[in-house]
Amino acid sequence: MKRHTVKELQGMIADHSASSQEIYKLYNNRIRAMNDSINAFISIESDEYSSGNKQADSEISGVPYAVKDIFCSEGDQTTCGSKMLSNFVSPYDATVVKNLREKGTVILGKTNMDEFAMGSSNETSFFGNVNNPWDLERTPGGSSGGSAAAVAAGMAPIALGTDTGGSIRQPAALTGITGLKPTYGRCSRFGMIAFASSLDQAGILSISAEDSAIFLEHMAGYDQKDSTSSKETVPKYTDFLNNDLSGKVVGLPNEFFDGNLDSRFQELVTDSIGEYEKMGVKFKDISLPNIKYSVPTYYVVAPAECSSNLARYDGVRFGHRSTDGKDLDAFYKQTRKDGFGQEVKRRIITGTYVLSAGYYDAYYLKAQKVRQLINQDFLDAFKEVDFIMGPTTQQSAFKLGEKVDDPVSMYMNDIYTISSNLSGVPAISHPIGFVDRLPFGLQIIAPHFKEHELLNIAHKYQMATDWHLQTPEICKEID
Ligand code: GLN
Repeated sequence: MKRHTVKELQGMIADHSASSQEIYKLYNNRIRAMNDSINAFISIESDEYSSGNKQADSEISGVPYAVKDIFCSEGDQTTCGSKMLSNFVSPYDATVVKNLREKGTVILGKTNMDEFAMGSSNETSFFGNVNNPWDLERTPGGSSGGSAAAVAAGMAPIALGTDTGGSIRQPAALTGITGLKPTYGRCSRFGMIAFASSLDQAGILSISAEDSAIFLEHMAGYDQKDSTSSKETVPKYTDFLNNDLSGKVVGLPNEFFDGNLDSRFQELVTDSIGEYEKMGVKFKDISLPNIKYSVPTYYVVAPAECSSNLARYDGVRFGHRSTDGKDLDAFYKQTRKDGFGQEVKRRIITGTYVLSAGYYDAYYLKAQKVRQLINQDFLDAFKEVDFIMGPTTQQSAFKLGEKVDDPVSMYMNDIYTISSNLSGVPAISHPIGFVDRLPFGLQIIAPHFKEHELLNIAHKYQMATDWHLQTPEICKEID
């Protein structure tokens, strides 16, 4: 089986070598053939192609895509990976879905994810874990693990994800694909089920940076329904892809190169730096002194916001409802006890604690102050450099079950990714090679609203290398 990029599909539709119906059918068949072994999709659209918007005449008309099950899509089951929403059907589209629907794209299905996007391995999903297409006994990373696995396995050419602390970049790295987390506010959060509202951002998992550029153009933009969405104009990202990189300066923070990385991964990072040097990119050592507080800061701020956001799941208005409970209080408690999984409960309890009277100043307020310092580190660094680079993760895909019982070691997975969410800056991960046949990724961070520069630099690398085009063995067994 061949994995097609969005760019290739556009070409096939344009020169009539395949109709959008045929392309839809191809992916629908692949999903049906592969989902039992990968579990990337929670729900699959009908095998009857129905064009969402026949009038649409855009460059992405007829291109199918997968949607993380955290986005509302009208008439579809939207579970957020939770029992709490397992019976919920969206009455409307999230703005990013609506934007893409208006351009004639077609949804293939809703992808599996950690419950309420809390996790780094996709093992907290009520719908079971996702298996990494490169090794079915390993995690694809989380929380957008279903979207990542779907793209890596060729079950979808491109997919939407969300990134609150690394959930696009980390699974992209672990499945050998490209993952873009745009600037906070670049894409509307309306209709995207809230986890931690000041950190959540919609983004893209794709084979190539070029494909992400094509989709971002149509997804991003100001939305009246999200007061935190930005009015900054959306550039035509594809126009920037081939810009010359010579003279660009990349900062290598010593905090990302602290000697903890296994030498085999370090070698891949060094090789990718060498590749960039050939394009005229200059490197310099920098320091982000407060970045070491990112993980503890995040694990105060994110649970605090989630404890408030998840208060709405009370069994009364929508979602799972417990039938036992002798009075109203018992009914609420039983509903939330049955509806939420262990990790979600852990976050709600932590969040409630750090917000409670007497602890608010010591934890939440302190974390907000440290968050400002982390943001300032980025602003200062970007006075001297155009980009910041480092590994996306500390290791390649780990075994399923290896970390589930150790929340702290699970939280440490996001050590390199969390700081950009705390600051709001955009970041991309792209594949740079393999260790023991498992892919590994490089993270590049840019100043706020410089997605076009990130897509440019990643695209240039992908023009010179073919790591992003490597396909897992499992694809070879399928038509
Ligand atoms: N792994 C982080 C967490 O568990 C980040 C998740 C995310 O980005 N949605 O909260």
